[in-house]
Amino acid sequence: MPLRQQVFESVRAGGALSRVEIARMLGVSPGSVTQAAADLIAAGYLQEVETAPRDGETTRGRPPVGLAVNPAAGTVAGIKISEAGHSAVLYDFAGGALADMTLPGAVRPLSRAEVKATVAQLLDGLLGQASITRDQVAAVGLGMPGFIDGETGQALWSSMLSDANLPLTELLSDHLGCPVIIDNDANLMTLAELWFGDGRDVSNFAVVTIEHGVGMGLVLNNRLYRGGRGLGTELGHTKVQLDGALCRCGQRGCLEAYVADYALVREASTALDWSGKDLLGPREMLSELYDHAKAGNTAARSIFRRAGRYLAVGLANVVNLFDPELIILSGERMEYDYLYADEVLRDMAAAAIQVDRPAPRVQIHAWGDLIWARGAAALALSTVTAQRLGTPGALDEASCVA
Ligand SMILES: [Zn+2]
Repeated sequence: MPLRQQVFESVRAGGALSRVEIARMLGVSPGSVTQAAADLIAAGYLQEVETAPRDGETTRGRPPVGLAVNPAAGTVAGIKISEAGHSAVLYDFAGGALADMTLPGAVRPLSRAEVKATVAQLLDGLLGQASITRDQVAAVGLGMPGFIDGETGQALWSSMLSDANLPLTELLSDHLGCPVIIDNDANLMTLAELWFGDGRDVSNFAVVTIEHGVGMGLVLNNRLYRGGRGLGTELGHTKVQLDGALCRCGQRGCLEAYVADYALVREASTALDWSGKDLLGPREMLSELYDHAKAGNTAARSIFRRAGRYLAVGLANVVNLFDPELIILSGERMEYDYLYADEVLRDMAAAAIQVDRPAPRVQIHAWGDLIWARGAAALALSTVTAQRLGTPGALDEASCVA
C-alpha cells in the first residue's frame, strides 16, 4: 500500500492526528509523512484542523495542528436491499451523514428491472434530500444477502433476486451512470464495524449476523477477508449435522437451517400446533414464539434453546479456526435474547479449545436497519479510496456522470 494511502487510512481510522503521531503509528520518518500529507492536502483528501491539547501537553504558542479527512473530497451512497426493508444513506468523504431513506422491502425476489428501479429510486431520493446531483457521487455501494462476488460484480445467488449469476455491478452501473460496488450483507455489517464501530480498536474480529439467514464477516489484520473466490466465511452454511435439516441453499445440516428465523418457525409450526397461522409472515410468527417463550411455554423455550446450542457450536468453530479478539453478534434477531443467553456463551466457551487465556470477548449489537446501508457506504468509501490513493498517479478517478 503506498504511503499516502496508509497516511489517509490512519487519519480516517484515528480521527484528527498529528503528523508525528501518524509517523509513529506507521513506523516511518515524520518527513515522509509530511510529504505524503502535503500531496493529500493538495489533492483535497485531507485538511488541517486544530486539535485539543492532549493531557500533559502545554499549549504555549499555536494550538496543535492535526490532519483530518476533508468531507468535501467526495460523496458516496450506501444501499441495502432486503426482505425487511430497503435502506439507503448518503455520506460525505469523512463519513458524515447527508441523507437517509427507507422503502418497504420485497415480498418476493426482484427481477432485473425491479432491482434497477429500486436502486435508482433510493439513490435519487437521497440526492433530492441533499440537493446534489449524480455527478457529485463518487460511487454507490450495494449489499444484499446471498453469495455475492464483489470482485467480479456478480450476484451468484441471492434470496432477493429471481435470477442467479446476475452481472449486477454492470447492470446497475449502466443504469445509474455510477461506479457500483456490491458485496454480501454480512461483509457490509463488518465494514460498518471496522469503519465506524467497535472494530476500529481491534485488528482481528468476526461479526456474526442473524437475520433471515446467518452470515459472517471476518477482519484479519485490519482488513476484511473475502476468500479466494469472494465467497469466504459463509458460517450459515457450515455443516453442524450430517444429513440434517434442509437449508435454503439446497444442502442439509447447515447451521442456518437450525438458527435462522425460518428454522425456528418450522419448529414452532410442529411443536405448537400452529395450523392456520401460515398466513402470518416469519417475523410475526417468530415474535409470537418469543412471547410464548417469555411467558414460560416450555416447548417455545426449548426451540430457542436448541437454536442457541447450535449457534454456540458455530461460534466455537469460529473461535477455534480464527481466534478472533472479539466476536460481535449483530442483526435484527438480537432482539431475541435467547440467542445470546449466558447458556449460549457458556456452551461456546466449552466447545472452544481450552487454554489458559481469556476467551474472546462477545458483544451484542442490536443496530437499527440503517447500519447495513452505512456498511455499504463504507464499502464505497474504501473502494474509492483504494482506487484513488492506491494507484500511483491516480488521485482523480471517474465518478457518476450527470
Ligand atoms: Zn445452507
